[in-house]
Amino acid sequence: MNELGQLIARRIALTGPISVADFMAEALGHPRLGYYRRGQPLGAAGDFVTAPEISQMFGELLGAWLAERWQAMGSPGVVRLVELGPGRGSLMADALRATRGVPGFHAALDLHFVEISVTLRAAQQAALAGFKPIWHERFSEVPAGPTLLIANEFFDALPVRQFENTKRGWVERMVGLAKDGEMLAFALAPGVTPFSSYLPDAAEGAQAEICEAGRALASAIGARVKQDGGWALIIDYGYDQGHGASLQAVRGHRGAGILDQPGEIDLSAHVDFAALAAATGAQTFGPMGQGDFLGRLEIARRAETLKARATTGQRLAVDTALQRLIAADQMGTLFRVLAVGDDRSGAPTGFSDEV
Ligand code: SAH
Repeated sequence: MNELGQLIARRIALTGPISVADFMAEALGHPRLGYYRRGQPLGAAGDFVTAPEISQMFGELLGAWLAERWQAMGSPGVVRLVELGPGRGSLMADALRATRGVPGFHAALDLHFVEISVTLRAAQQAALAGFKPIWHERFSEVPAGPTLLIANEFFDALPVRQFENTKRGWVERMVGLAKDGEMLAFALAPGVTPFSSYLPDAAEGAQAEICEAGRALASAIGARVKQDGGWALIIDYGYDQGHGASLQAVRGHRGAGILDQPGEIDLSAHVDFAALAAATGAQTFGPMGQGDFLGRLEIARRAETLKARATTGQRLAVDTALQRLIAADQMGTLFRVLAVGDDRSGAPTGFSDEV
């Protein structure tokens, strides 16, 4: 086992089994050894590729959506533009390049990034130096005021608890020590979990997850846009309604063992959008499929524009990227889009039926 695995095993030996959420928080966020505290997770050389890394069209269309929401807010003179987990900064760089022509928008922007990775903060700095971003460890540090927030593939990295329905009722799945007293192993907690009241009636053997950190964050975002005005757009892979166990480990674009090599492999879970939407306590739109959403933002037209001034090879790349983003068997359906806002005047672009 690696160094972080040994640290977690020692903690368990001293204080007893920990929740899957506590394990995930350590594996991803340990100050020195956590997955997002070291190395380069994103891109072809990393462990996974995200939508803004697939094509500039993604960030460009979201930029136009944000600028349109800013206008719908009455074009406030100062707006916090917040991104949670901006990765390499590609989404925001594309969004801001695409909105240069929106009168007054850039002058009003006050850019805030919530990011724990030192490596990725440096990449974000390089991509967006001209916009003078301010970094935070968590959303609660972002100053109050009218807010536009975007989060792509952020909520899936937040720790989940896992549960299994047994003859005794719902019990929590924990991380303890294997019989050898050294290796990490899953085990069910002996008693019924106090989280039972949040879990559905289900058959014996059913599994479930609860992401407390995601709900708390959604609640803070909802409170912010209700209090100060604004909009949030949350995009991630997940489910519109509750689901089973989805926590997965990915290394070098392949599956891996969840408890193996903590800190060296990516851990993520499908996002429960119904739980997030409810936790906001605000008006929500969606969730809807990423493919439908981008279709309504006219991604096909954007692709044609790009192709009009491209070489044959580039045209092919634009088409391939377009399919990856919108096709039902790629990211189009699995990825869901949820908007949170305070607008009583109707649905934002992409969420209404009139295009
Ligand atoms: N949005 C980017 C990156 C997604 S990966 C894209 O679409 O390409 C997840 C991002 O969230 C990374 O930037 C990672 O460093 C950051 N992150 C993960 N957990 C975090 C946490 N608890 N707090 C702040 N940032 C976090």
